[in-house]
Amino acid sequence: MPTKPPPLRPKPARKQSNWNRRASRQSRGYGREHERIRAELLQDEPLCRECAKVGRVTAAVIADHIVPLSQGGSGERSNYQPLCRPHSDAKTAREAAAGRTKP
Ligand SMILES: [Zn+2]
Repeated sequence: MPTKPPPLRPKPARKQSNWNRRASRQSRGYGREHERIRAELLQDEPLCRECAKVGRVTAAVIADHIVPLSQGGSGERSNYQPLCRPHSDAKTAREAAAGRTKP
């Protein structure tokens, strides 16, 4: 006897799982103010701060929150630092790992 067709499924899953999907920029406190500070910061300090510590000269492309907003960091410019993409990604990964192991 024929089996019933499977129930209709929602759209196929995306290529990547959503485990590391981040909230929208707005809900993370980003917005016009962030863009303004980012532009100022990268203009005033166009090199990655972490690279500079080890004597490398790398263009910064990210205005990073030194203390993440999710950990109570402020949106003030004093809480921003210019980072290159690899340093920003590494910091983000460290923060995500720290967040997962928090009690
Ligand atoms: Zn760097």
